[in-house]
Amino acid sequence: MKTLSILSTPVHDVTYAETLDLFSDYVKDGGVHQICTVNPEFVMTAQRAPEFMHVLHNADLCLPDGQGLLWAAKLKGTQLRERVAGSTLMYKIAERAAEEGWRVFLLGAAEGVANKTAKILEEKHPDLKIVGTWSGSPSAEDSPGIVQLIIQSRVDVLLVAYGAPKQDLWIYKYGNELKVPVMMGVGGSFDFVAGVAKRAPEWAQNMGIEWLHRLVMEPWRWKRMLALPKFALRVIFGKDSVKVQ
Ligand code: UDP
Repeated sequence: MKTLSILSTPVHDVTYAETLDLFSDYVKDGGVHQICTVNPEFVMTAQRAPEFMHVLHNADLCLPDGQGLLWAAKLKGTQLRERVAGSTLMYKIAERAAEEGWRVFLLGAAEGVANKTAKILEEKHPDLKIVGTWSGSPSAEDSPGIVQLIIQSRVDVLLVAYGAPKQDLWIYKYGNELKVPVMMGVGGSFDFVAGVAKRAPEWAQNMGIEWLHRLVMEPWRWKRMLALPKFALRVIFGKDSVKVQ
């Protein structure tokens, strides 16, 4: 698997189809696998949070979720073939899970959102087995109970919507106890499926300006989104900002 190092952050050059095949292998093999949906905000957060950088380096799969990563690769003379967006991947996971009988658990998002997400996905895929949902926080007090619930539910695929980097740090911390073959942070994806938040129209996604839609819809993100121009400047002017490993 081709791996890029973008500002020292690993990003794997995988497509949607390859990602789902890898998930299938992970479920068949068992074991513990962490998947992260990397975007420029992740990369910039990791620059100042060594524990998050460590998690990304230890993840089995760092998906290229962010048009900015594809742009950076191209600018520096290499390529990431496809953007693999967590929010789109959710639907594809549901479809494959229904086909292969994976047991899925949805963790996180506001009260009722994971439940609504489960209902919508199950309506679309009657064979889908969502074996549990749990909203709430990744706090240290709540986590032992959540971990027990997931262990008892014999989960194949755990999707965690606590936002980055909280969700990824949580999976890293409890992953070995949970022993789930596929564990992935999905950010605000449940909100999109449940209709609590609206994703950019497809044309905007295809133009690579989903971030602009997000800024207009959720202007309080402006401070967080300053990471994007900072990312661009670091990529353009940094020495060896993008490397093929
Ligand atoms: N969230 C949560 N518990 C927390 C913090 C966040 O369940 O302690 C949820 C929140 O409701 C939302 C998601 O995590 O559904 C984070 O969404 P956001 O769009 O901020 O994530 P991003 O994709 O930007 O990382």
